[in-house]
Order: sequence, then C-alpha cells, then structure tokens
Amino acid sequence: MTIRDVCVSGRVLIIGGGHAAGQCAASLRQKGWAGEIAIAGEEAYPPYQRPPLSKAFLAGELEADRLNFKPPAFYEAQNIELLLGKRAQKIDREARQVHFEDGAVLDYDRLVLATGAQVRKLDIPGAALRGVGYLRDIADVEALHERFQPGAHLVIVGAGYIGLEVAAVAAKRGLKVTVLEMAERVMSRVTSPTVSAFFEDMHRAHGVDLRTGARIEAFEGESGAVVRVRLADGSALPCDMAVVGVGVIPNTDLASDAGLPVDDGVIVDEYACTADKNIYAIGDCTRHPCPYFGASIRLESVHNALEQAKTAAAAICGAPVAYDQVPWFWSDQYDVKLQTVGLCAGRYDQEVVRGSAAEKKFSVFYLKDGGLIAVDSVNAPADHMISRKLIAAGARLDAAKLADPAFDLKTLL
Ligand code: FAD
Repeated sequence: MTIRDVCVSGRVLIIGGGHAAGQCAASLRQKGWAGEIAIAGEEAYPPYQRPPLSKAFLAGELEADRLNFKPPAFYEAQNIELLLGKRAQKIDREARQVHFEDGAVLDYDRLVLATGAQVRKLDIPGAALRGVGYLRDIADVEALHERFQPGAHLVIVGAGYIGLEVAAVAAKRGLKVTVLEMAERVMSRVTSPTVSAFFEDMHRAHGVDLRTGARIEAFEGESGAVVRVRLADGSALPCDMAVVGVGVIPNTDLASDAGLPVDDGVIVDEYACTADKNIYAIGDCTRHPCPYFGASIRLESVHNALEQAKTAAAAICGAPVAYDQVPWFWSDQYDVKLQTVGLCAGRYDQEVVRGSAAEKKFSVFYLKDGGLIAVDSVNAPADHMISRKLIAAGARLDAAKLADPAFDLKTLL
C-alpha cells in the first residue's frame, strides 16, 4: 500500500449543507478520495445555492429544485451519502466522532465543518411579530412569499447586498418599499461612497423610500402581526411585512465547544485546516489568512466557499495547495450587476472612475500607494475579469492613464 492509498481511505464527514459542503464532497471524489464521504446537514434539502434566494427565487422566477448545487443523482453516482435534517451537536475529538441531535453518532477519519452562518436577529420590541422575517434559507423565502404582494408595505431593515436585492425585487413587483439603514450610506461595509451614491440614486429612481441614518426602535403589531414600524426619531411607518438584513454570525459553536480556536469564525490555516489536523473548516464559518489583505479575514461569498472547499479537499487527499484567492463578490439589483474584486473598505488612498454612471456602465478602481487593491464594476464584466488578474499580479497602476477612457486596460495584462 502506498502512502497515497493510506491517505485517501476512511470516512470524510462533512457537517453542513451549503455551497461549501457540496463542493468539498465533489472535489474529494475528483481528487481521488476512495473512502466514504458523508454530508450531514440540518436543512431538509441537498446542498443548494443561496444567491438566488434574494433574486430570482424571491421573484418567483425559479423553482426550488433549480437551486440545487448538484442534481440529486450526482450524489448517488459519486457514492456520497446525504444525511439531511441532521443537526450535529458535539464533536468528540478524541474518539473522532460527531454526536447528532437525533442521538446518532458518526465516526470520522477527517471532519470538515461547513456550517456557514446564521442571520443576526434584531433584539427590539415586536421583533417576534408575524410578518417580520429574515433571509438565509429556502424556508425563509417561502415564509415571505404569501405577503410579498403588489401594494403591500414592505420595510427592509439594513441596506447591505441582501436588503437592497430584496428591495429591487419588491419594487419591481409593485410593493411599496422602504429601506431603513442606520449608517449614513448603503453598503458602507463593502464599498466606497461613490458606489453607494449610485445605488442610492438607482433605488430612489425605482420608487424606493430609502432612508439612511435611520434607526428602528420597534415593530408594532395587531393580533400578533406587524402593522407598523416605529423609528428612533418618533415617526412611524405602515408595515405589512419586514425583512431584516443586518448581517450574519458564523456558526462556530461546534468548533469552540470542541476546544478549537475561534475568533468571529473558525480559525483555519492556508490549507483550510483547524488546530486539529483531522478537522478542516470551509466557507462562511471560517477565518482564514488572506495574503492580499495582509491579515486573516472572514468572507461571506460563494467564491470563497467553493475555493476553500477545493483547498480542504486537496489537503485531505494528500496534495495540499495553499489558498491564495483574491476575494470577489457580486450582487444583482434591477438591471445592474455589481461585481467586486478585492476589499476596498477603509484601505484605499485614491479612486479612479472609468466609464459612465449615467449610462449604468462604469468601474471604480481603488489604489493604495499606487497598487491596485480593489475594483467595483457596474455592468462592466470585462473590467471585472481584467481586474481580477491585475490584483492577483500585484499590479501598480498610473491613475491618470487609468482615468483615460481611450486607454485599453488589456494592455496592462
Ligand atoms: P451556508 O450556505 O450557510 O451552508 C451552511 C449549512 O450548514 C446550512 O445549511 C446550515 O443549516 C448547516 N448547518 C449549520 N450548523 C449545522 C449543524 N450543527 N449541523 C448540521 N448542519 C448545520 N454570495 C455571493 O458571492 N454572491 C451573491 O450574490 C450572494 N447572494 C446571497 C443571497 C442570500 C439571500 C444569502 C443568504 C447569501 C448570499 N451570498 C452571496 C452568500 C453565499 O450564499 C454564502 O457565502 C455561501 O452560501 C456560503 O456557503 P457555506 O456552505 O459556507 O454556508
């Protein structure tokens, strides 16, 4: 038996049922794991894609089975066991076992935590009223659908990606939409004032009542259902339904209870490995080293979930490759696709706009000491693709050249 034969046998148990879990199982088989692979997820669905939840699925343009990460037949064909509706409760690292809420106990040779994140809940009066919802899984969207009707007053709390995507779908559907954002601008955590202003104008042009610097104090109800929102300035708004999108909290309890280091995310190294060499963690639940950021970060993105899953699979199969990805994200709102590469927030000392905001086609390049660190592209996919390569290559750019619309970015590659 070769060392590689030893490496690729035994059971890999993956906890979680999202993008990261599905990709890790698929990559393990692709990279030659010959032993058992089991995915245990608490939801009733096989691994599925969350981005459409606040886009086409919320709009009713997509059936639930179209959300599947892979068709159900894939798991059978690849001999990947799917254990659905199964919530892991405790890891026994010494015995290499996971205990589940239903009393089951499963052994593992390698364990992968892909437990994602949960929504941050509002702790204000009335938050438990009927009609106040969140958006993380299929069940959340199904709960919204009944009230999501033209003419209904929808109040969205939080103007991050998800809040604004919901606003766009709702405005298009004819709901009366109010967005309440505590910060002075939308998407302030992820983008610049220039891009925030573009999105604020766009939402207002679609009839959304977008209020920044707005603090919600309470939901008020009648017969157990929300009817009104009260703001800190004393004013009130009619509200038939509310969607709260104020961020997420990584699901790290399993890891911390097992004594693994956690700091707003399960701490992993560049191979997605935790402090226990038999336990890996991937996706939204992790904090990992990011060479482009010069620090460890926690990301909430499909790209990170997929790439960390591949990284863990490679390491488990005995062919480790360090995770070295430039982060990228996207968001769809109305007829606009925002694509972001890199992380700009609070880090750049110069920005250069190429293209035209009026024509809804432009990019904002963020530089620090002449080096390109991030780019937001609005309906400009070619800029986005080039920027990914430029940032990965550590490009230093001349701002004047960059600002010249006649200058061809491709020549920089
Ligand atoms: P998750 O998808 O959260 O999956 C984790 C799974 O683990 C869940 O099913 C959870 O129930 C399960 N679990 C947790 N604890 C346990 C336990 N103890 N036992 C068993 N199972 C457990 N990203 C983008 O890049 N672009 C987008 O446009 C975009 N849009 C989004 C829209 C919405 C509405 C949401 C919610 C997210 C969006 N994201 C987007 C983020 C992206 O979906 C996440 O980054 C990605 O889903 C992370 O995958 P994951 O597998 O790490 O975690």
